[in-house]
Amino acid sequence: ARCPVVVVGAGPAGLTVGNILRAAGVDCLVLETESRAFIEQRPRAGVIEEWAVRGLERRGLAGSLLERAERHSACEFRFGGDGYRFAYTELTGRHHWVYPQPLLVTDLVREYADVRGGEIRFGVRDVRLHDLDSDRPAVSYTDPDSGERVLVHCDFVAGCDGARGAGRAALPPRARISRHDYGIGWLALLAEAPPSSGHVLFGMHADGFAGHMPRSAEMTRYYLQCPPGDDPDAWSHERVWDQLQRRLGAAGRPPLTEGRLLEKRVLDMHNYVVEPMVFGRLFLAGDAAHLVAPIAAKGMNLALNDAFLLGDALAAYLTKDDPAGLDGYSDACLRRVWDYQEFSEWLSEIYHGTSHGDPYRAGTTLARLRRLFTSPAAAAAFAEQYLGTAEAF
Ligand code: FAD
Repeated sequence: ARCPVVVVGAGPAGLTVGNILRAAGVDCLVLETESRAFIEQRPRAGVIEEWAVRGLERRGLAGSLLERAERHSACEFRFGGDGYRFAYTELTGRHHWVYPQPLLVTDLVREYADVRGGEIRFGVRDVRLHDLDSDRPAVSYTDPDSGERVLVHCDFVAGCDGARGAGRAALPPRARISRHDYGIGWLALLAEAPPSSGHVLFGMHADGFAGHMPRSAEMTRYYLQCPPGDDPDAWSHERVWDQLQRRLGAAGRPPLTEGRLLEKRVLDMHNYVVEPMVFGRLFLAGDAAHLVAPIAAKGMNLALNDAFLLGDALAAYLTKDDPAGLDGYSDACLRRVWDYQEFSEWLSEIYHGTSHGDPYRAGTTLARLRRLFTSPAAAAAFAEQYLGTAEAF
């Protein structure tokens, strides 16, 4: 078989690339190891930055999102027993959009496969990439129905299959991988409970960080800092809610609305960046190229940024013979990647600086926090990075 582009992975990155290519009349094949039902329900991210919403809109991919997403205009820091609201929209005129990742993935699959007629294979096994340094690369996989190996020749491979996919496995020795371990864990929780506030809450507490992220009228994501590698089973329902109430409690604020915990897993917080993001005919996008711990809710946004650039660049090359986008792809992506990596580092210190038992670090962390509420320049800088640079794509 032959196809100009094989996209490996049907996450936000891969599906966005596929949709852009179909809109430009380019054939592509998307390969995904999971089932359609599974990817349409996998809970993960929820925050989409306004520039990314506009990028989706411009490519005809934001119909349901614009109807159903919630727009947030503030977040709140809780520390020292008080709550401090940070109204970023008042400062910038821009919003955070909250739209759960499974809904976005559902929209993108439907548009790609059912509307734009794109080809997609679910449940494939043992995906392997071949001859990436030649101009005739190929991808092979085991077909779930026949059990046979299938080989697809192509011009380009888009490696959009996340942190543990075939794209990362195929990296040559010349790939430079920078990694940062935070040395902490986060217990990621999804609660069947309405949000306890209309906005995101960050709790800085001596016991550790806690976060509250509204997802929908019935669903709230919570995070609790814990030791890396901690056992999620050590966190009973009672212990989770007791710690959330403690770490997020503030004077004059009602207690959190509790509910059943649907997801409970420990994330060992780390980041990495693969440089460059292109190896021969393999173009990496999203988590396959860079991971950023969910500290600043940036991962899906970076995946979309890559996908816009890669989809547009592949379409320009394949339909107009214009190589400029592909040539500049890696550098263009990495600028935003490193910008967001740096912001995650900075924000991590705010979240975790008070909980190490080190009074010096706690002192500087509280100074950094107070500055957000006393210096308009510091507030504006924070708002800009929190919302993401408003570049047009
Ligand atoms: P993925 O979404 O991982 O998609 C990759 C796809 O490839 C998957 O469907 C996978 O099944 C498939 N695949 C894997 N291996 C193979 C293979 N060998 N062959 C074929 N297919 C394969 N980001 C934000 O912006 N905001 C947030 O609020 C946020 N919160 C998060 C909370 C949690 C708990 C987690 C874990 C992540 C969060 N993120 C957040 C990060 C965000 O979910 C990811 O950055 C985003 O999913 C990256 O998209 P992607 O398309 O690159 O990769």
